[in-house]
Amino acid sequence: MIVLVTGVTGFVAGHCVRELLTHGYDVRGTVRDPATADVAHLRAIAAETGRVFDVVRADLTDDAGWAEAVDGCACVWHVASPNPTEVPRDPETLVRPAVDGTLRVLRAAAAAPSVKRVVYTSSVATIRLGHADLTKVRTEADWSVPDGLDPYPRSKVLAERAAWEFAEANGLDLVVVNPGLVLGPLLNAAKPMSLEILRRIFAGEVPAVPRMSFAVTDARDVAVGHRLAMENPDAAGRYILAGPSVWLGEMARVLDEEFAPLGYRVARRPAPRWLLWVVGRWDRDVRMALRYLDQPTLLSSDRAIRELGWTQRPVRESIVDAAESFVRFGTVDRPRP
Ligand code: NAP
Repeated sequence: MIVLVTGVTGFVAGHCVRELLTHGYDVRGTVRDPATADVAHLRAIAAETGRVFDVVRADLTDDAGWAEAVDGCACVWHVASPNPTEVPRDPETLVRPAVDGTLRVLRAAAAAPSVKRVVYTSSVATIRLGHADLTKVRTEADWSVPDGLDPYPRSKVLAERAAWEFAEANGLDLVVVNPGLVLGPLLNAAKPMSLEILRRIFAGEVPAVPRMSFAVTDARDVAVGHRLAMENPDAAGRYILAGPSVWLGEMARVLDEEFAPLGYRVARRPAPRWLLWVVGRWDRDVRMALRYLDQPTLLSSDRAIRELGWTQRPVRESIVDAAESFVRFGTVDRPRP
């Protein structure tokens, strides 16, 4: 059985490909440019497992290639979406590929007789943001309030909404997974957005650590969540894939405990609000981060646990494995002897 995974150069999609290949599936991946896409690590996993992995060209901003990409696939995992490290000035640079690209993928899937289900990678950003009551544990029944959202969460809210509208209008079997902040090991020398704050703390590149919280999950567990959402015939609706609320300061402490004895200079000092406020006057990213300061991230993954049998490894493992992979792939230097 062939599964199409979109955007296989990405961090999450790479783990999805690995999950599929190691569980007996063949994979077709979409990339923007097959000539330059770094997928050698995925080809190596295919060779080890004896499964087929190939890539085809398709861009979320272009109709070309999507019909050919889905042809013959039994399932589509639509993972690709712009997830840049820096917040763009024009939100449309994220919103258009996210929304129009999702509709391109779903239209192609709906028209392909072989495709039985689409598993779509949304985010907890479509669930937890913009609510006045910060003490309530959010579930799949909640939607972020789109007004005033930053470009990335806005792109994810609008894309997931568009996906549901299309699926309902066209009778498409759509299952959505909503991961939290995805940590865990890199599979190649990339710098994905979700690992960047951890990488900078580990490398001592930030002077201090803001008091922000995240519902952390692991890329390997997110990939399992996609597979369970595909394999379970009763899977339907949205599934939050996210663990307990973890403060950045706690992540820094784990890194410090594990790696300071080896000579790494982990950033640990808490960043006071006034300092962030001052820096935020010229740094847009810090200015945007200010609105999330001191807020716990309260989400429930009970539905995925109960209905899909999804489980999650300890957050400490996701943090330590991420850090070890930074060193392995050279995105953080080893300490000088
Ligand atoms: P990533 O490493 O930046 O990967 C993004 C992927 O999307 C890349 O393969 C990228 O291709 C592709 N892409 C971007 N724009 C495209 C376009 N116009 N046409 C075709 N492909 C395009 O991000 P990630 O963290 O793995 O995120 C993957 C998915 O998980 C996204 O849908 C994201 O919203 C979701 N998610 C991520 C997290 C997280 O914490 N990481 C949490 C919740 C949800 P190029 O390599 O060519 O740029």
